[in-house]
Amino acid sequence: MRGAVIYAPGDVRFENLDDPKIINPTDAIIRTVATCVCGSDLWPYRGAEPIGDPHPMGHEYVGVVEEVGSEVANVRPGQFVVGSFATSDNSCANCLNGWQSSCLHREFMSTCQADYVRIPNAHGTLVATDEHPDAELVPSLLAVSDVMGTGWYAAVAAEVKPGSTAVVVGDGAVGLCGVIAAKELGAERIITMSRHESRQKLAREFGATDIIAERGDAGVARVKDLTGGIGADSVLECVGTSEAMRQALHSARPGGNVGFVGVPHEVAIDGEELFFSHVGLRGGPAPVRRHLPDLIDRVLTGRINPGKVFDLTLPLDQVAEGYRAMDERRAVKALLKP
Ligand SMILES: [Zn+2]
Repeated sequence: MRGAVIYAPGDVRFENLDDPKIINPTDAIIRTVATCVCGSDLWPYRGAEPIGDPHPMGHEYVGVVEEVGSEVANVRPGQFVVGSFATSDNSCANCLNGWQSSCLHREFMSTCQADYVRIPNAHGTLVATDEHPDAELVPSLLAVSDVMGTGWYAAVAAEVKPGSTAVVVGDGAVGLCGVIAAKELGAERIITMSRHESRQKLAREFGATDIIAERGDAGVARVKDLTGGIGADSVLECVGTSEAMRQALHSARPGGNVGFVGVPHEVAIDGEELFFSHVGLRGGPAPVRRHLPDLIDRVLTGRINPGKVFDLTLPLDQVAEGYRAMDERRAVKALLKP
C-alpha cells in the first residue's frame, strides 16, 4: 500500500509501505475512504515539534472494514466505520466514565494518511453506520473523527448551555466546528475571534452572531463590550498558543468556563490570576468516542455539516501538497482521497 511519511520539517513524502496486519485480536484493518491533514500535523511540519526517525502520519479517518481480529464483534468486514484519533476499549473505568481518550489501553492513531490502516482497540473505537453513506456525507463523517469531535468537546468542556454566550478563540477547523457545537448546544450568542474573511463567512454560516478581528487585550476588550463588561459564560480555546489561552481566560466571566482543546505549546498559566478569576478550566484530547454516535446521527440527519471546513480535496498521492497548502494558509483543511 501507499502512505505519507514525514522525514523532516517541510518534507512529507508519499511512499510504498508494508500493508498493515492484524497484530492483536482486538485490531481491525480498514480501507481508507477519506483522511486528512490536521492542524496539529503542522507542528512537526513546521519544525515546532521534534520528528526523530521518519514516520507515517495522520490520525483522522473513515473507512471500510477489511478484516477484524478474533475479539472484534461490534463491526464486520464491509461496514463503513468512523473512529477517532485516540483508540479506546470503551470498557475500562475511564471509558465507562466517558473519558475514552484517557482509556487505560489507549493508543493514539498515527498512520492514517494511507490506503489501509490498522485500528488498535477496534472493538471499542469504531462505530459503523447502518449503510454506506452517500459520498457527499463522507467529509462530515470524517470531520466527526477529530475536528468536529474536538470542537464538540470544547463546547461541552466550556459548559455551553441554552441561552448562553460563547466565545470561540481560533478560526481553524476545530474552532469553526466549535461554533457548530455551541450553536447545537443552544448558545444564543456566539462570538468568533477571526481575522480571515473566508473563515468569518463560514463561522457565520455555522452560527456565529459576532466576529471580533482584534487580538490580545484589544480582543478581550471587545468581548467585554459585547457581554455587559463581565465576559462570556463559555470560552472555547481552539489554538494552543500562550496568546490564545490568555485571551480565552480573560474573555470568560467570573463563574464562566474555558474548554481548551488546542494542544498547548509553551502555554503557562498564572495560578494566582486563575485563582482570582473564578474561571473553570477543562481541556485535553477530546473523548471523541463518547460523542461519536450522537455526532454521526447529527450528520446523517443533516443537522450539521462540518465537512464544509474542508476547502481543499486532493488525491492521497498529493498529500505533500495538502501540507504545503495548509502551511501557507492557502487551505483551512485538506481532505485526502485514496
Ligand atoms: Zn478504556
